[in-house]
Amino acid sequence: MNVQNPSKVIIIGSGPAGYTAAIYAARAMLEPVLIAGTQPGGQLTITTDVENFPGFSEVIQGPWLMEQMKEQALKVGTKFIEDHISKVNFQKKPFEIIGDSGEHYYAQSIIITTGAQARWLKLKSEEKFKGFGVSACATCDGFFYKNKDVVVVGGGNSAAEEALFLTNFAKKITLIHRKSELKAEKLLQKKLFSNSKINIIWDSVIEEVIGTENPKGVTGIKIKNIKNNKITDLETHGMFVAIGHDPATEIFKGQINMDKDGYIITEPDSTKTNISGIFAAGDVKDKIYRQAVTAAGMGCMAALEAEKYLSNH
Ligand code: NAP
Repeated sequence: MNVQNPSKVIIIGSGPAGYTAAIYAARAMLEPVLIAGTQPGGQLTITTDVENFPGFSEVIQGPWLMEQMKEQALKVGTKFIEDHISKVNFQKKPFEIIGDSGEHYYAQSIIITTGAQARWLKLKSEEKFKGFGVSACATCDGFFYKNKDVVVVGGGNSAAEEALFLTNFAKKITLIHRKSELKAEKLLQKKLFSNSKINIIWDSVIEEVIGTENPKGVTGIKIKNIKNNKITDLETHGMFVAIGHDPATEIFKGQINMDKDGYIITEPDSTKTNISGIFAAGDVKDKIYRQAVTAAGMGCMAALEAEKYLSNH
């Protein structure tokens, strides 16, 4: 692959959107090249049980699911490259992208599927119990907390939605926010305040997640009130951190249209970006759904749209 002989399509990122785009592009004879990034497999590689990806009646493991997607993409002819893209030039065609390896890659079309990362509190104890009572996705893990007590951390729309969603399963939800008012939309706030299962602790931050080793799991948290520095213990079975996500779009700044939060903007019901020949799919362009299955669906759309673009150019 060089500037005279560019790839038909390069996919940047190896989550469900990237692998699905690769599977569809390979089966359309586009000989896709997928560049995996620093966390091959994406967010699902740091989760454990997955029960909501259709097609599996038994609980599966996130890392296993991503291995399967990779194998499927390879089997149908995807070229897999282990590199992390650190620079892109979308101003000229073929598009040029440059890896940490120093390699320059050229492509007639590009599908961006670099995903997003949940923000974490950055506590050692939080890290220890990730996947064992600490989660950043109520839609994924809420079901495991039937009739249990959980806490949600954050004060934005995500925290409010996660808390409300958890009322479908949990016995009691405690929302913990570092301020004395929420950032979430007023309508969501109204729903939160009127739900008898939800209790809010204001002006407080998490000091520590407490749990057991065997079986590994959360049993409580230490909370600090930032107004009076008082520390209290709260018994809980799970902690959902909902303090925002960061889309992995740093390298595309100034090259492609993004919203104020850094998510790539695409045309409605499409993965087309403002640059003809560049498509974006999955969490890198989606701040609402953020599911493996919606990302995979968008990956499919991007491959179909890339195929159409290539046949028209
Ligand atoms: P967000 O709006 O950025 O809110 C993050 C919340 O977490 C804020 O309340 C913030 O506190 C708190 N926070 C941040 N860092 C923290 C830390 N280290 N410790 C404790 N608390 C911390 O994020 P989001 O709720 O994920 O929403 C992101 C975007 O997606 C927004 O534009 C939102 O409107 C959108 N969204 C929309 C929908 C919807 O339309 N249905 C659903 C979800 C998200 P402060 O208040 O103190 O800053």
